[in-house]
Amino acid sequence: MQRALPYLALFGAALLLPLFSNDYWAVIGARAAVYWVLVGGLNLVVGYGGQLAIGYVALLTLGAYTSSVLVARFGLDPFLSYAAGGVVGAVAGVIVGLPALRLRTFYFAMTTLGFATIVTQVALAWQSVTGGGIGLAGPELPKPFDSQWGFYMFALALAALVTWLSSNIAHSRFGRSLVTIRDAEVAAEAVGISKPKLLATVFLFSGACAGVAGGLFATLQSYITPEAFSFDLSVTFFIAILVGGRGSIMGPLIGNIILTLLPEFAAPLVAWSTFLYAALLLTIVLAMPGGIAALLDFRNRRPLAANRSIVPQPGRISGHGTARGDIVLKNVVLAFGGVRAIDGLDMTIRQGEVHGLIGPNGSGKTTTLNVISGYYAPQEGEAFLGSAPLPHGAPQTRAALGIARTFQTPRLIGEASVLDNVMIGATIEGTASFLESVFCLPRHRADEKHLIARAMNALATVGLDALADVRADRLQHSELRFMEIARGLTLNPAFILLDEPAAGLSGEEIKRLGELIKAMARQGIGVLLVEHHADLIFDICDHVTVLNLGRELASGTPADIRAHKEVVSAYLGA
Ligand code: ADP
Ligand code: MG
Repeated sequence: MQRALPYLALFGAALLLPLFSNDYWAVIGARAAVYWVLVGGLNLVVGYGGQLAIGYVALLTLGAYTSSVLVARFGLDPFLSYAAGGVVGAVAGVIVGLPALRLRTFYFAMTTLGFATIVTQVALAWQSVTGGGIGLAGPELPKPFDSQWGFYMFALALAALVTWLSSNIAHSRFGRSLVTIRDAEVAAEAVGISKPKLLATVFLFSGACAGVAGGLFATLQSYITPEAFSFDLSVTFFIAILVGGRGSIMGPLIGNIILTLLPEFAAPLVAWSTFLYAALLLTIVLAMPGGIAALLDFRNRRPLAANRSIVPQPGRISGHGTARGDIVLKNVVLAFGGVRAIDGLDMTIRQGEVHGLIGPNGSGKTTTLNVISGYYAPQEGEAFLGSAPLPHGAPQTRAALGIARTFQTPRLIGEASVLDNVMIGATIEGTASFLESVFCLPRHRADEKHLIARAMNALATVGLDALADVRADRLQHSELRFMEIARGLTLNPAFILLDEPAAGLSGEEIKRLGELIKAMARQGIGVLLVEHHADLIFDICDHVTVLNLGRELASGTPADIRAHKEVVSAYLGA
């Protein structure tokens, strides 16, 4: 509810606009609202998903022509024609979006631009339907929406609706997943997020918004020609989001209003408008990279306590996922070019035990972890969970099997809160469909409650609950390590794979981490602990494997390893 207040204030003020301005402002206001119907949806793609879709004017064009043609040539009801524009926009949105699954950022940006050019050219050439360069009339709304203020109110209502819907998505597991794909794609895979399905769904939604906006745009213009859909317009939409700030709704909403108003105030400077946009963009990028959203983020401007310490509560580990047996590696071989990173490794990681994996740098520890978590497919041998082989090269399947992991370099979403970063750990437990989340239906609300409770408990377990609301990029390195562990625990995993969790921690923190890991094993979780700190390994492990050049040098209890001559001389060095 608190989250809604700024929006209620803004839309409340917009409702009052007719009281103290003239018809001219009704048109400007309606334009801002219509643009927002598109930008609000596009924001999920660009601001949340980080996809450089710069040619969205194409979908506006499609929506505008669909609505106008259906009304002008077939006499369809104008409201229905907007809906038809939305359907066409949704389908086209998915088609334009699909290349994003394969192409890197800039190539994808170019394909969206290419699509925009094609749509405009078709609109020009297909004279019998679109009227070609002469154009055709846009849909006219019946009373009471036929006046300038009437249409303003109608567009405003749709803008408010898009705000609500996109905010529901942003604050759902779908929105968090989008941001995770943007900032930490490997982490997204590790928690089981399916990028193709998610992106396709979001492209569908934002395409529908753009299509509806197109119909409204045609009504606003009252007459459309292909020229009305300039590339400048597309850039304006995109810049509104950049100026507004990534991963925010209020920021781009304000950015959209500013960019709609700017030409009005800068009318005498119209020849300079491109220059003005460029200058504005440069200013934003250089002076406030977080955009308007960062300016409005008052909460994260409060200083954090300087001498905070991480005090885990190992007693709060809430149990573990169902065991499907041990993780077993059988004669795994994995070479990168000529380097045999793993060279015939056998290993068994049991639930309820801490299995240490040590060895010099480059001995294949991380690679072993990556084979288990599905990033690499071994060239020989196999990894099993119980009797079932773990699918190769499919990291997104591991979360559902109860296998969580952390990374040697923490993978975080810097601009999201610590709580959001941890909540994504249990993304796969969400039960509400995308549609249920869009409309904030009961199952979505139950999901959120469940995820928040789970994540808060994991944060309390690792001792970070006091920082739940803080933006993750404000945390210290050691806190990020514990945050990643909390993300893993949120899954209630059967196994957790920790890649050098003690790196960069103080002596005191390492001791607490040790207690926490022991408690995980006591609760039945199987822990694979890759570490350099021999003390920690010998203190808490049930079983230790020593790697050298991708081969097992020794394996056994800590006591066995400490007594192993080769290990002592080559590695422990005492
Ligand atoms: P550790 O984690 O034990 O320090 P790694 O498992 O990261 O070691 O690396 C083992 C060996 O494999 C090293 O020689 C490393 O250079 C090589 N290696 C790891 N990942 C890759 C990769 N993606 N491409 C090429 N070589 C790699
Ligand atoms: Mg490593």
